[in-house]
Amino acid sequence: MNKPVNKLSKDDTLVDPFNRHITYLRLSVTDRCDLRCTYCMSEKMTFLNKKEVLTFEEMYRLCSEFIKVGIKKIRITGGEPLVRKGIMDLFEMLKPHLSNDLDELTLTTNGTQLHKYASQLSTNGVKRINVSLDTLDPIKFKKITRIGNLEDVLLGIKAAKDANLKIKINCVVLKNINDDEIDEFINWCIKNHLDLTFIETMPMGDIGNENRLDHFLPLHELKKNISSKFELEDTSFSSGGPAKYSKIRGSFIKLGFITPLSHNFCSSCNRIRIDATGVLHQCLGQSNSLDFRKILRSPGCTDTDLVENIKLAIKHKPERHSFAYDLSNEHIEGMMNRHMSLTGG
Ligand code: SAM
Ligand code: SF4
Repeated sequence: MNKPVNKLSKDDTLVDPFNRHITYLRLSVTDRCDLRCTYCMSEKMTFLNKKEVLTFEEMYRLCSEFIKVGIKKIRITGGEPLVRKGIMDLFEMLKPHLSNDLDELTLTTNGTQLHKYASQLSTNGVKRINVSLDTLDPIKFKKITRIGNLEDVLLGIKAAKDANLKIKINCVVLKNINDDEIDEFINWCIKNHLDLTFIETMPMGDIGNENRLDHFLPLHELKKNISSKFELEDTSFSSGGPAKYSKIRGSFIKLGFITPLSHNFCSSCNRIRIDATGVLHQCLGQSNSLDFRKILRSPGCTDTDLVENIKLAIKHKPERHSFAYDLSNEHIEGMMNRHMSLTGG
């Protein structure tokens, strides 16, 4: 593969109407998954047909145009990205950008297949990954994921550490499910040198008989509780996203809190998402979108067409999401019909 040429000039950077510099692209490579987490999916999901999903060549072409106009970090996500057949081909295709005009290529995974791919990820220039894990209890793990085995994820984490990948654990906090093991979870992360970010459940997609409100826990309550047991120091560290980070005194790990519902941080948003069908979503919690599959598959689509449409999409990035839970009236505002597994978390 030829080394990509850096054509970025000052005028090419992506700035939205609220003066936010857009430098981070999350790309969902599949809506499929080998787990069925209760807060993410319903038990019986209908998945996309193969021809609806972008090919790796289409994804690579799109990513290259995004990089040309200022994207500096790409996260491969899903669904579960590591269940897509041949997924390492996409990492291999994108790798040459890392020695030129892309700062970071990374991954969010549930970890079940990580033991197979950790060393190839590292070879392909990935340095840090996010692994989603909500409990260290095998029985609860099965309950939350419906079909998963905790042991697979722990093996994956070990393989990733052996491959020198830096790991951040993402943990969705669920009232009356995993909120009683938070201290143990933090201590496990400290012991294993794993950064940890807690996330509030967002109202995205139908989850069948489950009710997200039943298990929603505002993270400012959790943080108060954690502060009474661990010495937290707020830090100015930012990944440009919604997480606020603290350090735990006496440890090497960072503790993050993503609070889209209880505290909105959209003013610092630097990201956009492309779902598995090639639709660009300017905001996780709004319906603005632009269909890049249609553009890519239209006859004679040029690189200039792609760049013009990328710029157009950024001009329509909304100021903020509209998610809100009214716990006293059991009401959810801003519910999105699409699942996080399609859009890419
Ligand atoms: N399958 C991979 C995984 O679980 O890491 C990648 C995709 S998953 C959609 C990305 C992240 O979104 C995970 O950390 C998951 O816990 C989180 N997530 C999924 N549905 C969510 C929801 N409704 N609210 C908050 N986080 C959610
Ligand atoms: Fe799959 Fe990730 Fe959704 Fe769990 S959160 S069902 S692992 S896509």
